Amino acid sequence: MAIKKLDSTEYQWAVREEVGRKELAQPCPNCGRKLVLRHSKYGFFYGCRGWPECDVLIGCHGNTTEPLGIPAEAATRQARIRAHSVFDLLWKDKWMTRTEAYAWLAQALDCPVEQAHIGHLNRLDCERVTEMVSAKLVELKAVGA
Ligand SMILES: [Zn+2]
Repeated sequence: MAIKKLDSTEYQWAVREEVGRKELAQPCPNCGRKLVLRHSKYGFFYGCRGWPECDVLIGCHGNTTEPLGIPAEAATRQARIRAHSVFDLLWKDKWMTRTEAYAWLAQALDCPVEQAHIGHLNRLDCERVTEMVSAKLVELKAVGA
């Protein structure tokens, strides 16, 4: 599915019509209920219909209704945010290019580069990535010093 950019007010409203109606094909990994399109001040996201008993959700890319990864509960989402912020230092601090950073991540996760997405990881894998990236940064800084 192509990523839809919401660049016109008209289109924004068209998509807002889908809020509360549009559901992801995959059921909630926690409770099996459907995830439905919602909107907050941070943009679109899919939240479990079991909320508030079930807090599983996934954000969307930019101003689109395209999910960022696999829906997860709060602890996993926080672990993904931590893993992503430390991972992004690899290329934001110019230790390597963004492409090289993802190639390194794919190798570290032992998966093809197309599948090397932190948004697809579970909590333990996020913690592994955070540790591996931290160790890699120490190594790069020692060489660079
Ligand atoms: Zn759920």
